[in-house]
Amino acid sequence: MSAKELQEKLFMKPKNACLRMTDDEIKKADEFCENYKAYLNEGKTEREACALAIEIAEKNGFVPFDKKASYKAGDKVYYNNRDKAVILCVFGKKSLAEGVKIAAAHIDSPRIDLKPNPLYEDSEMAFFKTHYYGGIKKYQWTAIPLALHGVIVLKDGTKVTVNIGEDDSDPKFVISDLLPHLAREQMKRTLNEGIQGEELNILVGSRPFRDDEGSELVKLNIMSILNEKYGIVEEDFLSAELECVPAMKVCDIGFDRSLIGGYGHDDRVCAYPSLMAAAECENPEFTCLTVLTDKEETGSDGNTGLKSFYLPYFVSDIARMEGLQAHDVLSKSECLSADVNAAFDPTFPQPYEKMNTSFANRGIVVTKYTGSGGKGGTSDASAEFVGKVRRTFDDAGVIWQMGELGKVDAGGGGTVAKYVANLDVDVIDVGVPVISMHAPFEVVSKIDVYMAYKAFSAFFDLKD
Ligand code: MN
Ligand code: MN
Repeated sequence: MSAKELQEKLFMKPKNACLRMTDDEIKKADEFCENYKAYLNEGKTEREACALAIEIAEKNGFVPFDKKASYKAGDKVYYNNRDKAVILCVFGKKSLAEGVKIAAAHIDSPRIDLKPNPLYEDSEMAFFKTHYYGGIKKYQWTAIPLALHGVIVLKDGTKVTVNIGEDDSDPKFVISDLLPHLAREQMKRTLNEGIQGEELNILVGSRPFRDDEGSELVKLNIMSILNEKYGIVEEDFLSAELECVPAMKVCDIGFDRSLIGGYGHDDRVCAYPSLMAAAECENPEFTCLTVLTDKEETGSDGNTGLKSFYLPYFVSDIARMEGLQAHDVLSKSECLSADVNAAFDPTFPQPYEKMNTSFANRGIVVTKYTGSGGKGGTSDASAEFVGKVRRTFDDAGVIWQMGELGKVDAGGGGTVAKYVANLDVDVIDVGVPVISMHAPFEVVSKIDVYMAYKAFSAFFDLKD
């Protein structure tokens, strides 16, 4: 046998997914991504992504879960957790005692939240004070158009929904930055300090209320507009959740249109494919859960994050129907923790270790462990479970790759995997590689998005 033949037989050869797919399948991937782009444009916050997921679920036969009802194989239910997280469940033919299949992704993304008391006037301009949410490079969020999304709860309990800056005709908002001519001192700051938290002030107006008397007339004019539009007074900001997100629309990137640029791929690029796999899941063998969770970007704490008990409580509720307890089900269950990974960026190769990093267009990334330093803060999937997932994906024609998040001591990060693993579930991280992760405008490959969908479908035991 020649060296070439032996190499052929023995060596791994990573290959661009595009070279391993038929024209037909590439077309399918592109079509799938058109719907994903629409989801991304419509669902820019956890609340919007949750509402959209429920809308899609209902169109596909899901009904609200009733813990007093009993269900049979093929039934589809959803559990809405406070309009910010949702569990979709398709009951399988097997008993819950054999475990369930869980796909878990998050639908919150880094953004700029308003402080509870946000509105002020300075030098005849009106601004909002903000408190950023999640890990951001703050300088990336200045001098770009922003939209305002969220809810305001009035004193009488009425909930007002806010969504302004998305229509072409809508006004938008912006965080200012210093001109380079006068930035000599600012430019001496480190990149981390270049823009500081208290400098993320959002410009929201500049015309005074037209009266010769009075102070804070610009602020007054803004408050008057808000009162007219939403019926709110300043105090109502105290009971509001208002989030500023990039106002840009999702678009194709590249002459070949192979990539998608947009805000919030992390982690809706995993949420949407897992949602679609659930929506199309009919009569599975095992009961299949898709969990779209909140608060991952701030550490999964809180009653809508995966450190809370809402997932095991739900499992407990369905387990009871078969006279089982939650742990009877969870201990036999498997989970794909679906979150993005960092795609290799040749412009910034330094923090990546090329042999064990993910590349755009090589399919969905499987990540055995996350964490940082000496594998701190991770659930490390067992070789046995990796082996099983590997077989599942290969058998279903899912193009996948293995990748870690950067070099050993370059930094690191976590996902919801460990919180699910702590429930005694077999868990592995999978996800779509992202370029410029956590930036206001992130980039993914269309083929990778489609491979994520195929992967969840295979995991739920579907055929594409
Ligand atoms: Mn994520
Ligand atoms: Mn993230």
